Formats: sequence, C-alpha cells, structure tokens
Amino acid sequence: MRASPDPRPPGSAPGNADLSELLARAADEQEEGSQRQRAMRRASRAALGWDVPAADVVAAGLPLTTLARVGPWLAQFIGDWVAAGTTAPPAPPLRSGFMARADALRIVAGGQGWSSAVRCDLQMHTLSSDGHASLEAMARRCLELGYSHMAVTDHSEGLRIAHGMDATTRAAQATEVRDLNALLAAEGHPFRVLHGLEMNVDPEGGGDTDPDVLAGLDIVLGAFHSKLRLPEDQTDRYIRALHNPTVDVLAHPRGRMYDRRLGLTARWDEVFEAAAELGVALEVDAYPDRQDLDVELLRLAARHEVWVAVDTDAHHPVDLDAMPLGIAALIVAGIPRERVINTLAHDALVEWVAARRARARARAR
Ligand SMILES: [Zn+2]
Repeated sequence: MRASPDPRPPGSAPGNADLSELLARAADEQEEGSQRQRAMRRASRAALGWDVPAADVVAAGLPLTTLARVGPWLAQFIGDWVAAGTTAPPAPPLRSGFMARADALRIVAGGQGWSSAVRCDLQMHTLSSDGHASLEAMARRCLELGYSHMAVTDHSEGLRIAHGMDATTRAAQATEVRDLNALLAAEGHPFRVLHGLEMNVDPEGGGDTDPDVLAGLDIVLGAFHSKLRLPEDQTDRYIRALHNPTVDVLAHPRGRMYDRRLGLTARWDEVFEAAAELGVALEVDAYPDRQDLDVELLRLAARHEVWVAVDTDAHHPVDLDAMPLGIAALIVAGIPRERVINTLAHDALVEWVAARRARARARAR
C-alpha cells in the first residue's frame, strides 16, 4: 500500500495524527478500564502507523475496518470525524511531536530521491542483546530495502535490562559479522555489515566499555538509558557525553517515549553547537515511539551544521520499515542530505568514523 501522492488541501479532512488524538481523547471519556476504552486507545496508537490516510480510505469508498485496530464501532466514529472535517486540538506534551506514518510516506514520496540517498540503517539489535531476530535475518531485510550496508549495534554490557553483550558474546558477534559478510559476498551481494555497538552512557558522560574494544568496532553509538525523567536542564550531561572520545553517534538523544516519557531537556543550541564542533553525529531514531530527535529540534540542529544519523533502532526485521519516519523528519526540518552520514557510501562512512576518532585523539593530547 502507498500513501496518496497528492496531499489534500489543509483543513479539508483530519489526518491520521488528528484521528489518533481524537481517539485518545474519546478514550478518556469512556468508562475507566472498559473494553471500549481499551479499543479506542489501541486504535489511537494504531492510527499513527496506518500506511494510508483514513480520509483516503473513505474517499475510495472502502470500509474503515480495513485499517488496523478498527472495528465497526470505531469505524462509525472515524467516519463521522472525517465527514465533518473534525481536526484535533493540540496533543498533550507526552503525545506531541510524533509524525503519523501516512504523512511520513507522503513526505518521503515527494522528497526528491531522499529515500534512495539513504544507503544504510545504523542502529539495530539482534538476538545477541534484546532483538528478536538473527543478524542474518536483519541483514536480508536491509538488502531487500535496497541498502548497501548496515550496522548491527547490540547493547553494551552495562545495560543488563536489555541483555547487554559481555565480552564473549561481542567476540562471537565479530565472527558472525565476518562470516555473514563472506556469505553475502559469495552470493554476489555487494553488501557490508558493520560491527557496531550501542554503548550505554551514564549521566556523567562515561561509557561502560573498554576504549580499546571500542576502537576495534566499526561504529559506536552512545546513548543514555537512565535518569531520563529528570525535569532539570541536562545541558552539561550532553556536553560531557559529546566530549566522550569514543562516541561516534549520540543515539536517541532525548530519550523520550510516546505517551510515557517526555525525555530530557537542555539548552539545545549549546548542545548542537558542541556536537557540530566535536563532529559527533546526532541521531534521528525513527522507531515510531521514539522519533528522537523530532522535527522541532532538528530545525534548530539544521542551523548548526551538525552531522546527523537516521536509524530505526529495529529489534525485528519489520521494525526496519520505520525509516520513512526519520527521513520525513529530516526533510521537513531542512537537514541537508550531505550532513546525513547514512548517505555516505560504505567506505566513506568508514573514513568518516576514522577521521572523527583521529580528531578526538588529537584533542585528548
Ligand atoms: Zn537505546
């Protein structure tokens, strides 16, 4: 299924993000804990992931029950909102700044080759930590998506909750990456798997993995996974993490989660200025519940000539399909393509990492 290539004039019908919010609000008015409330909440969440605008389904004369999580009862509500042109009031902070998939697909379809310019996905997880598929299954899906390379970035040892890899598992994965690259080459695929890591970064900006080990990896993502609900300004924490010489990419920078966690705040101008100066890439994590950085912060980042990475943070091959959410955010925010490390060819990306690390070493001297 594809998104409609011609956007409707604004205001003519609610988009899927509107419908999601209208459903979330309607759910709040149902009896607490009731079946109907649960159904509305599920549909609210599902609406953000529909490939096609519900209004297009109506316009095509198709039943709304063809959309995920929509039964006849909810189809009535949605049909009425579409017919009346009802749009949603602004979403509360926990739900705001999230793009609907149908909108992302439409933006990417109009995005002048952006989609094919993105050659790789640089954050994903496998059975070696908390992923649900093998490295090979992830790589095969990346091949189908037309990528020329990818990075596997399972969690580091410090993140117990996500089954972070110990030294033995990491070494086994290095062998797995080598063998898979050999297998794919033997099959005639010019496709490369980079061996990376999502390293847990503590609130002081320190990593949990031996720098010598990190130096042997193709790419290192640094990410916060603790103290993500602090309301105080976290600028210093970001600056410290960006100065960590082993971090190539700062992953899901804010740590927000749809409808659950707002994520951290900072004086973002200072953070982006430091990232630009230090040459560390900031990630757009396209996982639907993350979308982190979001469009609003990316607009600000665009003014600082930062490097950006766009990744899905996939834990299963189907999650790799979230990439359009990240690409659409880059397009809307006006991030230039040449600042996105995923548009680099494999060898150029390897060089980018080597150059960044050499600069970090020079600074440390
Ligand atoms: Zn993470």
